[in-house]
Amino acid sequence: MSKNYIVVENLTHRFGDFTALDSVSFSVNRGEVVAIIGPNGSGKTTLLEYLVGLRVSRSGAVSIGEKSPKDFRTSIGYVPQRFMFDRSLPITVEEFMSLESCAKSGHRCKNTYKALKEVGMHIYAKHKLGSLSGGQFQRVMIARALLHDKEVLVFDEPSAGIDVAGEQTIYDLVKKINDKKKCTCIIVSHDLHVVSSYVDTVICINKKMVCKGSPSKVITPKKIKALFGAATGLYRGNCR
Ligand code: ADP
Ligand code: MG
Repeated sequence: MSKNYIVVENLTHRFGDFTALDSVSFSVNRGEVVAIIGPNGSGKTTLLEYLVGLRVSRSGAVSIGEKSPKDFRTSIGYVPQRFMFDRSLPITVEEFMSLESCAKSGHRCKNTYKALKEVGMHIYAKHKLGSLSGGQFQRVMIARALLHDKEVLVFDEPSAGIDVAGEQTIYDLVKKINDKKKCTCIIVSHDLHVVSSYVDTVICINKKMVCKGSPSKVITPKKIKALFGAATGLYRGNCR
């Protein structure tokens, strides 16, 4: 696992007078599965937007494989927190996938089918996108992120709004992809009990860097209470 593959150094982001990220620094090794956890509004999505090159740092530095995320963008698969679309939109799953495939000619049908198969959604290729359940739609979003053999996969709360069984399936899938493709995976999640059994490293942020380490070191009642406050019901014990 090559060290310091993704490097974030003193990253600060302000929305007007409001500081969303305050001098955040950490590094991620190549091939690692990393969870980013923190309370609502702690800057997780903003941080991911820097990692995938949707924001460019003016204060601090972000690099992936010594490149800026913007230059690395075609090698990053991103499953955003929200993907809004009109459910009555007359578009099939494979047509939706081809919107991403079109960006690189020659890859089209073969890769679309392969990526859908990878997530067990190939049989839905001709189904309307709006007819899928939340879990099925998330799997299509993951298939879309897999197109063109990405080196880094970034998921923003991939199991939000999905039941416990569906949640497990999503994480099993991420783990399978990581084992098979050796890509580096960054997951923002609230599911601490699930995260602890799937990831190598946990990064806790609350605008500032709070802590980083293995799940057994980071997901402890004391640290979780410090991060989320006393009222959290997210911690369900040490799952490792
Ligand atoms: P998280 O993903 O951890 O819930 P976000 O990164 O989405 O947090 O947001 C961090 C903070 O920045 C929140 O307080 C949010 O309200 C604020 N914020 C996010 N996007 C904007 C924006 N475009 N304009 C102003 N404030 C924003
Ligand atoms: Mg968010």
